[in-house]
Amino acid sequence: MDSSTVAQLRKENRRLRLQMDELLRQARVNEKKLRRLQVQEMELLGLDSLAEVITTLTVDYPRSFELAQVTLVLVDGDNQIQKLLDQLPGGMRQFHGVILLPDGAPLEQVFADLPTPRLGSYQEAVHRPFLGHRPQPASVAMLPLLRRGRLIGCLSMGAADAERFAASKDTYFLERLATTVAVCVENAINHERLAGLGLTDPLTEVNNRRFFDQRLDEEVMRAMRGKAPLACLLIDVDHFKRINDSYGHQAGDSVLRQVAAVLRQHLRGQDVLARYGGEEFVALLSSAPLERAEIIAERIRAALERRALPLESGERLRITASVGVSVLHPQEHRGEFRSLGRELVERADRALYRAKEGGRNRVVAVA
Ligand code: GH3
Ligand code: MG
Ligand code: MG
Repeated sequence: MDSSTVAQLRKENRRLRLQMDELLRQARVNEKKLRRLQVQEMELLGLDSLAEVITTLTVDYPRSFELAQVTLVLVDGDNQIQKLLDQLPGGMRQFHGVILLPDGAPLEQVFADLPTPRLGSYQEAVHRPFLGHRPQPASVAMLPLLRRGRLIGCLSMGAADAERFAASKDTYFLERLATTVAVCVENAINHERLAGLGLTDPLTEVNNRRFFDQRLDEEVMRAMRGKAPLACLLIDVDHFKRINDSYGHQAGDSVLRQVAAVLRQHLRGQDVLARYGGEEFVALLSSAPLERAEIIAERIRAALERRALPLESGERLRITASVGVSVLHPQEHRGEFRSLGRELVERADRALYRAKEGGRNRVVAVA
């Protein structure tokens, strides 16, 4: 072997060693990435409350994966997810990183017939509907969330770095993450739905008394923390017994369902509405001073009086209701809040009693 061949071989040897080192380095990086992903996955799989899953994905992930934003997009054709989120303390509006779509068409357009992660530079027209209102990212990854072959949503990740989600990047890790996220999200929704069944009144489909009792303390605490007034409305249908007596129990049931629907229309998503007893409903209005609560109560009373409720027989029935209103002012109380919720409802009940005494079909408010 002449000396130039030896030099050549040495050079080749060095090149191969460098290549080997680079591959090993890559493997170590990937192993580290995989470990990190596994830890994140285990954490996600351990959650069963929908609020926790959403917070982990949209608040914790941007931090731990150094992303500009993460948005959870879900198809919610029947508004079930919206309802579930509204029932959580703080309501839907606290989840900035969630986008609910009335149907799956926009997502199907993105993923066409190949539901694999879509990576690339940010394009306003394509990505805007699937990302929150934060500063626009440089590159985006959209991970399809699939359950039993059905596209239930997507996880959109935006990065400030244009290279991070370059179209040419390998998507193995992202595909894996998407599978876990899809399972967790669906699980959490089902879990929340089941829990909700025990807290919903089957006749009117509004919350039941059990749900209300659970939420009352939470709402009082929230009001105390935010130093915002909390209003309570007790709404009782007038002479309801006569409706049952004259038109039958079925008609009475139909009236209750329709009353619940009217109440729902007049309240915001974050307000708590529940069937308190037979023909009596209760609402908690957050951040509502007395004047505001009275206005809402009067709107409800007027809407019920105005509407002629259709019965199955074809007849239309006019009803009225009485409303008692009370408000909790956090500034006036310090420390002990356990009894404040109960007192709030008791005061609304006394106001309701006065509305009945005063001739029904009226609103009585107590400060
Ligand atoms: P007031 O104006 O004083 O409120 O009179 P009222 O007749 O509405 O009140 P009362 O408490 O005397 O009667 C309430 C009635 O509501 C009695 C009960 O049979 C009826 N009720 C309670 N729950 C249901 C229900 O789920 N379906 C039907 N159809 N009736 C119910
Ligand atoms: Mg009544
Ligand atoms: Mg009653």
